[in-house]
Amino acid sequence: MLVLGIESSCDETAAAVVEDGRKVLSSQVFSQIETHKVFGGVVPEIAAREHLKVIQPMVQAALDEASCTLEDIDAIAVTQGPGLVGALLVGITYAKGLALGTGKPLIPVNHVHAHIHGALLGLDAPLESLFPGLALVVSGGHTNIYYMANPTDFELLAQTIDDACGESFDKVAKLFGLGYPGGPRIEALAKQGNPNHFQMPRMVEEKKRLLFSYSGLKTHMVNLRHRNKGVFTDEETADLCAAFQEEALGQLVRKLESALALKPASSILVAGGVAANQRFRAMVDEAINVPVYFPHLRYCSDNAAMIAALGYHQFNTQTHPQSVFSDYDWDAFSRYHR
Ligand code: ATP
Ligand code: MG
Ligand code: FE
Repeated sequence: MLVLGIESSCDETAAAVVEDGRKVLSSQVFSQIETHKVFGGVVPEIAAREHLKVIQPMVQAALDEASCTLEDIDAIAVTQGPGLVGALLVGITYAKGLALGTGKPLIPVNHVHAHIHGALLGLDAPLESLFPGLALVVSGGHTNIYYMANPTDFELLAQTIDDACGESFDKVAKLFGLGYPGGPRIEALAKQGNPNHFQMPRMVEEKKRLLFSYSGLKTHMVNLRHRNKGVFTDEETADLCAAFQEEALGQLVRKLESALALKPASSILVAGGVAANQRFRAMVDEAINVPVYFPHLRYCSDNAAMIAALGYHQFNTQTHPQSVFSDYDWDAFSRYHR
């Protein structure tokens, strides 16, 4: 079964064709990062207008790359939320028009849940070997742990009570003038730094508390900067990055261990932008003793292949009446909900 995925929740316009939820035939991503860079973050209205400019060429490029036409597509999956509503509506309206015009089923997909399916793209392991499993989505807006009985069942076990992990990387990078997005910059500098030079507070250390918190760590960085009046040598900046990164990622590993003690799982799927961090991958591999699957780097950050993948499973599970997929009476949502 071929699913065309469409994604426009934030600052990436993406389209992809995926076969049976795993095999990526094409994945096109247009990043608006250069447009938003000068503002130090994503400007919602500009994002929506940029999506509108490129959505049609992106879908066409995805079909071309997959060497197929719209007729070959069995269903269309599109991000419903969470995200910027103006941005989401561009993808949703386009997808609704496409579905209406072609008579193909239309599948609304939750972006955060779809990130997890990024870890399954191109993976050969049979589903029975992966589920029941745990999943960690660690992105720019979310830090969620799920228990998954099957590919479409997302039981939320833990979330952040303040900032998301990726958000804290972005905020700390901005604070030290390292640029946007912060994650890759901090990772690169941390490689040259000594993680033990600066002491970091250990946030929510209690094993039993299944929640995340990143604002205290950020405040600590604000205070450190203030104390030095913002003046740091390159070596000190690298040390700060290394220490911050170690604790930011350490918290993720500790909570994964706690979740695993609570809910025995066959595997752990890790996804979202922060899953691209190589230090994080090494820490997880060392600490966790069930198979852990990370997405290929290109499927960590926003893409449409993950949307098509989850869409495929939603379409295939008998829990939804088929009429759901010819229903256009639904809207974008901005905040995460299940
Ligand atoms: P959400 O999916 O929650 O709506 P989003 O789509 O903006 O948010 P992603 O695109 O999945 O998030 O990930 C972007 C985040 O990942 C940013 O916060 C970025 O700093 C972070 N990130 C990217 N690469 C790295 C890295 N190498 N190390 C740490 N963080 C990283
Ligand atoms: Mg983005
Ligand atoms: Fe995302």
